[in-house]
Amino acid sequence: MKNYNLAVIGGGASGLCAAINCARHNSKMSIVILERLPRVGKKILATGNGRCNLSNINTQSSSYHNGEFACAALNKYNVEKTLAFFNSVGLLTVTDNEGRVYPMSYTAPSVLDALRFEAERLTIEIRCQTPVTKIQAVSGKYIIYNGANAISAEKVIIACGGKASPSQGSDGSGFELLKNLGYKLTPLLPALVQIKTKTDLIKSLKGVRAKARISVWIQGELISESSGEIQFTDFGISGIAAMEVSRYVSCHFQSGSKKSCLISIDFVPSLSKNEVSDYIYRSIKRNSALHIEGLLTGIVPKAVSAAICRAAGINLSLELSDLSEKNISGIAQCIKSFNLEATGTKGFESAQVTSGGVEVSEFNSQTLESKRHKGLYCCGEILDVDGGCGGFNLQWAWSSGLTAGKNAAL
Ligand SMILES: Cc1cc2nc3c(=O)[nH]c(=O)nc-3n(C[C@H](O)[C@H](O)[C@H](O)COP(=O)(O)OP(=O)(O)OC[C@H]3O[C@@H](n4cnc5c(N)ncnc54)[C@H](O)[C@@H]3O)c2cc1C
Repeated sequence: MKNYNLAVIGGGASGLCAAINCARHNSKMSIVILERLPRVGKKILATGNGRCNLSNINTQSSSYHNGEFACAALNKYNVEKTLAFFNSVGLLTVTDNEGRVYPMSYTAPSVLDALRFEAERLTIEIRCQTPVTKIQAVSGKYIIYNGANAISAEKVIIACGGKASPSQGSDGSGFELLKNLGYKLTPLLPALVQIKTKTDLIKSLKGVRAKARISVWIQGELISESSGEIQFTDFGISGIAAMEVSRYVSCHFQSGSKKSCLISIDFVPSLSKNEVSDYIYRSIKRNSALHIEGLLTGIVPKAVSAAICRAAGINLSLELSDLSEKNISGIAQCIKSFNLEATGTKGFESAQVTSGGVEVSEFNSQTLESKRHKGLYCCGEILDVDGGCGGFNLQWAWSSGLTAGKNAAL
């Protein structure tokens, strides 16, 4: 059986960084990456709509679920050090005005190639089409099985990702490897995912995008809110702001709770309800021949204007002069709180990230080494750490991968 000093299970974002940083800190170590797909880094290519939003300069521990655990790695390899690492593998980056970092080429293959070429330069062995099916800890070593075949390694880094987007490799099999070694998992749920809602009020809005504030209310209690782009679909809502709050919708439906879950959209967060009413009165005064559908087109897209009037119970064939004070107040109310009943979320196949994972208390946050098994490390999404949209999840993958790799080299 071939023996290595280090085996990295999973050649995704965190696994590639871990292997590279280990080799850089200890050139004597023999390192192998075992990847189940025919190529490494397939998911990296899909990130940021093919542009790879690889970090965010506003990264803080509060950007993450379990941020208190994540902060040690995020501090050791903070954004500046991570970008210096990328610079050292030949990748230059640019930052947009919202703090999101992209490769200068604005293409994800630049990121993957930089990592692949560095792994090659460091003579890291990469074995693709090698799904790891079992890991056994045997007298200070790890036996790593790919079906009937096996290798051994003194140290192992498990970087298999979560369950989100399984077609890009992360099919959740990493969780089984750790469960078999006795590790506990927290509930696994799709996060950064589209929200399903009742569609009667939004049938005419399919494909419409708007900037809005979106909030999740469970039985009258505000659970989460986010601002940014939303997009209406034939099943509900998508877009960054909707994805940001989706983990709370996932959690609610997973819990089996019978409480109602409402998605409330404020299409004009910068205006108060009274200011919207004033706007409507001014519009009517300016042009009383205006069609009802056009009443709000100065502040929201036309399709949204019509949907809001409908949701407020206004017949679109009414004349503006027929609108009562109550009607106008109702329209203003609907534009500030356009309420949709949530029915669930899309599944892991549509999700960008997994909420939940391996219980972080079983790992040393400074080194990412297991407290149970010496020489066993985890990094990336397999741990119960996840962040919002905007480069935070890749930043965690890089920071945790670099940390695990460096410590495995010692
Ligand atoms: C469509 C999409 C877009 C995204 N866009 C962004 C973005 O722009 N910015 C951002 O910050 N985040 C983004 N994310 C999230 C980000 O890609 C992930 O959080 C990150 O890739 C996680 O890194 P990882 O190394 O933990 O796992 P992964 O990148 O998923 O890598 C895990 C690797 O392990 C392999 N593997 C799994 N099981 C086994 C096994 N048993 N044996 C061997 N190999 C195995 C998989 O094939 C895979 O290659 C996006 C995600 C998706 C799905």
